[in-house]
Parts: sequence; structure tokens; C-alpha cells
Amino acid sequence: MTGSAGGREQTGRGEGLQAHAELALPFLGGYPTHLLQPVRQALAEGTLGEHLARRYPEAHAIRSDTLLYEHAAAFKQRHLRHAGPLAKVVFDNRLQLDHRALGTLTSVSRVQGGNLKAKREIRISAVFKAAPAAMLDMILVHELAHLKEREHDKAFYALCQHMLPDYHQVEFDTRLYLTWLAAQRQASPPGPA
Ligand SMILES: [Zn+2]
Repeated sequence: MTGSAGGREQTGRGEGLQAHAELALPFLGGYPTHLLQPVRQALAEGTLGEHLARRYPEAHAIRSDTLLYEHAAAFKQRHLRHAGPLAKVVFDNRLQLDHRALGTLTSVSRVQGGNLKAKREIRISAVFKAAPAAMLDMILVHELAHLKEREHDKAFYALCQHMLPDYHQVEFDTRLYLTWLAAQRQASPPGPA
């Protein structure tokens, strides 16, 4: 899903740069301009949050690592039964809002009783504790798919879609959600005027 790099501005005079800098969309790199224009508009109008809330009214109640593990295990049991055990699935509040690291799958090899065992762990950014249910599922599905497919290639996304048919839409909307959260933080007012 790579968009054309159109829309890069080179004014060279510094005019109007501030307005555009505010609307940088770091979580949406690679998406085509025609998808990003309405996002910029909704951000500017302050309607992005409502839009997402309407689209994703369903919250989840997965607040603990135990519940998160059970939730991931249910997906795995259903779609990736043979992918080998998962040692851990946890929320991690050190995974910050970096668009590259919303979740991670790591494999730690240890020698155990003469055998080399890989302990595989999924970490999910703690931001997803408060995110809509579908968005938590999306990030879980993404990391689970890496149990089988290492690269972000066709096979990988086919597996993601198999587990979550709306995968691409939800991934895009999750990026909108993160964009909205970042905008909220930026806009948090210094106090009553
Ligand atoms: Zn990935």
C-alpha cells in the first residue's frame, strides 16, 4: 500500500510552512494523498475523534496481561494452532507511539534441558488498553501473523486478513486514531484564557 510521493512541497521561502508542519501525519506515511486530505481536514475541524468513535463504538475490557494473553491465545488457537507456543503476551508502556513499534514479537533462545528452546513474546503498546476493540485485535493479529511470516509481504497480509477480514481498513483507522491521540496531546490547552 504505497502511495505516490506527490504533495511534497518545496516553497523555498518558508512561507506557510508552519501551517503544514502542524499537519504532518507521521503515522500515515506511505498512504496516498487522496486518503490523507480528508484526514487533514477532519483534524483541522476537530472531527476526527468523533468520526472514529462513531465507526468503532465497541470498547474492550482487556486491561491485564492475563486477559491479553488469553485473547491472543484464542486467536492463535483458531488460526495458527501449529505455530508453536507463545511464552508471553503483555502490554508494554515503554512501546511509545512510534509508528514502527506498536507491537513487537521477539524470540529469545534459551538452552533448556539440552535443547534450544525459543521463547516467543508479544508486546503490545499500552496505548491499546484504551483503544477500540477492533484496533487491539488488529495489532494482535499483526504480531501473531509474524509467528508464521517474518516479512511484511503478500503472504503476511493474506494471513492478517484471514484472521481479521477488515485488517487493512482497521490498520488505517488505527493510524488515524494514533494521529488523533497525538493531536490531542499537542493541543492540550495551557489553561483557561
Ligand atoms: Zn510487523
